[in-house]
Amino acid sequence: MTHANSDVDPVGDMQYRKTNRVVHKYHDRVIMLVTQNCPVYCRHCTRKFHTTEKQQSYFAEGEGSSYDADFEYIAAHPEIRDVLLTGGDPLTYNDRRIEQILARLRDIPHVEIIRIGSRYPVLLPQRITDDFCAMLERYHPVWFSTHFNHPSEITAEAAAACDRLLRAGVPVQNQTVLLKGINDDVETMRALLCRLLEIRVKPYYLYHCDNVSGVSHFMTDIERGNAIMEALTGHISGYAIPRYIVTTKLGKIPLEKSYVTQKDGKIILRSHTGQTMTINALDDVALQAEVLPQHD
Ligand SMILES: *Cc1c(COP(=O)(O)O)cnc(C)c1O
Ligand code: SF4
Repeated sequence: MTHANSDVDPVGDMQYRKTNRVVHKYHDRVIMLVTQNCPVYCRHCTRKFHTTEKQQSYFAEGEGSSYDADFEYIAAHPEIRDVLLTGGDPLTYNDRRIEQILARLRDIPHVEIIRIGSRYPVLLPQRITDDFCAMLERYHPVWFSTHFNHPSEITAEAAAACDRLLRAGVPVQNQTVLLKGINDDVETMRALLCRLLEIRVKPYYLYHCDNVSGVSHFMTDIERGNAIMEALTGHISGYAIPRYIVTTKLGKIPLEKSYVTQKDGKIILRSHTGQTMTINALDDVALQAEVLPQHD
């Protein structure tokens, strides 16, 4: 069965949009959609209505409008301790403009961390200049989210761009979209995740592909995503394991299958090798106990 594509607000962010740029969906953190522009227009982009359809974008009032209302909203909400700059890709702006945004956020005392979401380290790594990294260093703590989908995207240049950020004290983490025929097999995903650790980038989220137009041939089912997660969890470094999630209007929902079930008042724990252990309670004695015969 196919579902109707929903390019306009597929993850229900519009209802959480408080100002031109600020989406406040989770209590303690917001995203700021600073631009519609990207270094590439990814086919699987969840916000493609925003980055490609000017009339339907978040910026009905225009991308160039003043930021005053956006900063005022964040300043008036002391629960906001984490601001994620996204878009589009914030690094389409020059350093001076990005610095103006960071400086105004740093004027708000309750903003603890600032994150930047950008594909530039992957797609145009030359953009991550030493000057840019030195500028970020003045606004710490700044974190960086990038978006590698395949091990072949981890070029020497991309690795060097991540290294420049890391040396400036900017932790870099990665978000991947699960794409059929691209990275939806165990070997490709293992190579991607392990290569990311080698360049000191932490795999953070594996997104189930959203149902936007033009991606039906890239969509996988949750069983396949989970089979990949299960084939890797416990089999490669824990650092390499992202959370497998789907974005919904209610927020990000983890999709990983649980390793714990309850049956007849007992707790059944399943390990990464498929062995199970049935216990009464999660106490030390039970956890050290001999493995009991497997149940169906
Ligand atoms: C993903 C997202 C965030 C950040 O969520 P984390 O799980 O903390 O990375 C914040 N706001 C919105 C609207 C988001 O989509
Ligand atoms: S770079 Fe990010 S925001 Fe831009 S099109 Fe790709 S996924 Fe979407």
